[in-house]
Amino acid sequence: MQFSQIYGQASLKVSLTNMANGKQIPHAMIFFGEEGTGNLPLALALATYLHCKAPVDGDSCGRCDSCGKHTRLMHPDMHLSFPVIGKSGEGGGTLSTSYLAEFRQALTTQPYLSFADWLQLMEAGNKQAGISRAECYDLMGRLSLTAYSGSWKVLVMWMPEFLGQAGNVLLKILEEPPPGTLFFLVASRTDHILPTIVSRAQLLRIPPIDTEEVARALVALHGMDTDTAHARAPLAEGSLVRLRQLMEAEDTAAMGDGLFMEMMRVSYSGKVAPLMAWLDQVSDLGREGQKKILLVGLGLLRGCLLEIHGARSLHPIAATQQAFVAGFSRFLDVPKINRIHKQLQEAILHLERNAHTRLLFHALVNRLHDTLRPELR
Ligand SMILES: [Zn+2]
Repeated sequence: MQFSQIYGQASLKVSLTNMANGKQIPHAMIFFGEEGTGNLPLALALATYLHCKAPVDGDSCGRCDSCGKHTRLMHPDMHLSFPVIGKSGEGGGTLSTSYLAEFRQALTTQPYLSFADWLQLMEAGNKQAGISRAECYDLMGRLSLTAYSGSWKVLVMWMPEFLGQAGNVLLKILEEPPPGTLFFLVASRTDHILPTIVSRAQLLRIPPIDTEEVARALVALHGMDTDTAHARAPLAEGSLVRLRQLMEAEDTAAMGDGLFMEMMRVSYSGKVAPLMAWLDQVSDLGREGQKKILLVGLGLLRGCLLEIHGARSLHPIAATQQAFVAGFSRFLDVPKINRIHKQLQEAILHLERNAHTRLLFHALVNRLHDTLRPELR
C-alpha cells in the first residue's frame, strides 16, 4: 500500500513520513479512526514506506522488491494479526495464519475492508470472531526473531478490540519490545481495548476523510459523474465503508424497483417468453432479494393510489420511480390496487413459509394478469 493510494488524510501522511524520516516512530501506535477513514491503509502504507529501498517525495517507490512484497501483503517483516473465527479441529486457538490467504486477498481487493465484509468472507454465520491467546503467543514467538531484511519488524494488528483478556499476554512485549519492533494497532473503539494496552501506545487520531476526497473516490471507484459525486459525498460522513454501504443499498433498491416494474409489465402482457426470462432473474436472487421486490411493489402501489387521488405530494417517491407510477396508474383503479396489494401480501407470507419460489412467482404473475386484464379472462 502506498500513501498515494489513500484518499485524503494529507496532513497525517506528512506527519507519518516525517516521523519515519526522523526515526521517531513510537514503538507502539494505535491508528484510531472509524472504519473507512483509512486507519488500516495508513498503517499498511507506513509499513511499506519504512521497508521501501528507495522512497521518493514522501511515499514508498512502489517498484523495489520490498514494495512488491508489500503490494501482495507478503513482506516477511510485516506480520498481520486480525480477528478470526475458530476453524474446526483447532479449538479456541485458531491463529490469524489459518486465514492469512483469505485476508490478503480481501485486503488487496478492498483496502478499506469493513469488519462486516470480513465476517462474511470467513462465512462466520453466528460464530464469534476473536484474537486468541494462542495468537498472542504465536506473535511473540515471531517478533522475537531477527528481521529478515535487517530493517523494522512491523506487527499490524487489525481490531485489537477483539483481544479481550488475551491482550494481557502482549503487555510485556509492548513494554519492552525486541529491538527494531513496531506495533501498529488499528482500532475503531479504544474503550474496547484493555486500558493497559492503550496506555502503552501512542494514539494517532484519524479524522473522517474530507468531502472533496470522498467525491473523488465516488468518481474513481463508482464511476459517478463529478456533479452527482459532489452532491452525494457528504452522505458518507468521511468513511469509504459507509459510502460503499450506501451505494450497495441504492443498487439493491434500484434492482428491486426494476424487477417489480418488469413483473407488472410481464403480468400485463401475459406473454410467456418475457415471463420465463423474468422468472430466471428472480430465481437467482434468494429469498431476501425476492421479498424486497414485493415490498418495493407495495410502496409503489401506495404511490399509484395517491396518484389516482391526485395526492402525489403525500408520498414522495424517487425520481426513478415517478415515470412508472404515473404510467402504471393509468391502468389501475382503486379496487384493482386493493386486489394487487392483497396478492403481493399473500406472496410475501408464502415466501416466508418456504414455498417453492419459482412456482410462487409464476402463480402470482398469473393472478396479477387476471387482475390487470379482467376482460381477457
Ligand atoms: Zn520501494
